Amino acid sequence: MALSRDANTEARHRLVGQLQEQGIDNLRVLDAFWQVPRHQFIEPALQFRAYEDVTLPIGFQQTLSRPSVVAFQLQRALARVPTPRFVLEIGSGSGYQTALLTHLCLRVYSVERIAGLHQQVDERLRRLGQRNFRLRHGDGFEGWAQHAPYSVIIAAACAPDVPQAWIDQLAPGGVMLMPVEQGQGQAMLEVHKDLEGNLNSMIVNDASFVPCLPGKVG
Ligand code: SAH
Repeated sequence: MALSRDANTEARHRLVGQLQEQGIDNLRVLDAFWQVPRHQFIEPALQFRAYEDVTLPIGFQQTLSRPSVVAFQLQRALARVPTPRFVLEIGSGSGYQTALLTHLCLRVYSVERIAGLHQQVDERLRRLGQRNFRLRHGDGFEGWAQHAPYSVIIAAACAPDVPQAWIDQLAPGGVMLMPVEQGQGQAMLEVHKDLEGNLNSMIVNDASFVPCLPGKVG
């Protein structure tokens, strides 16, 4: 069941209000959520749930994170780096977060290991009129050295530890937001690299993401 165009707009408006109630007060982040039609990143049968604050399946046993979780990550990143130049995203998935990022930085570089997901994203973003992104079918553990350094690195899949490639590719003054395994669960880790290249990391939330897996598929 699909909502009508107006119903989607209304639902998106409500979602932005809910994010505000949950403490998201960065206006650029809120505006990005307002700009990007989340229902276009979800299969038609599930589109009526597109603006609920829930995790939704995107095929290939992967999920689109809850909007509040994505908003939290983006807000933390922008608190450190208000106007990022290059952003590296690990796990394009549906492309929804990639689309949000196109509104928040100069250019997004997004890596996805599953070919079937990777292939859908280009058209989705172009349909929305976005051009400031580059996509790669590859193993995100390697980052994307060619376009480094990145002022923000954001991961949508949980790694066992911080990959050295990401540390190397993070710009001085940059910030990385990534879920990481911790004991039996996961934590959201914020890693900041100062201008001398020293790293500072802290846990800023708990987390529940799909695993970051090595190699590429398809
Ligand atoms: N941000 C995405 C959420 C995708 S879920 C969205 O808005 O839809 C996490 C994604 O990370 C999945 O698509 C999964 O295939 C991908 N992933 C997991 N390990 C990866 C790796 N090593 N490199 C690249 N992508 C990876």
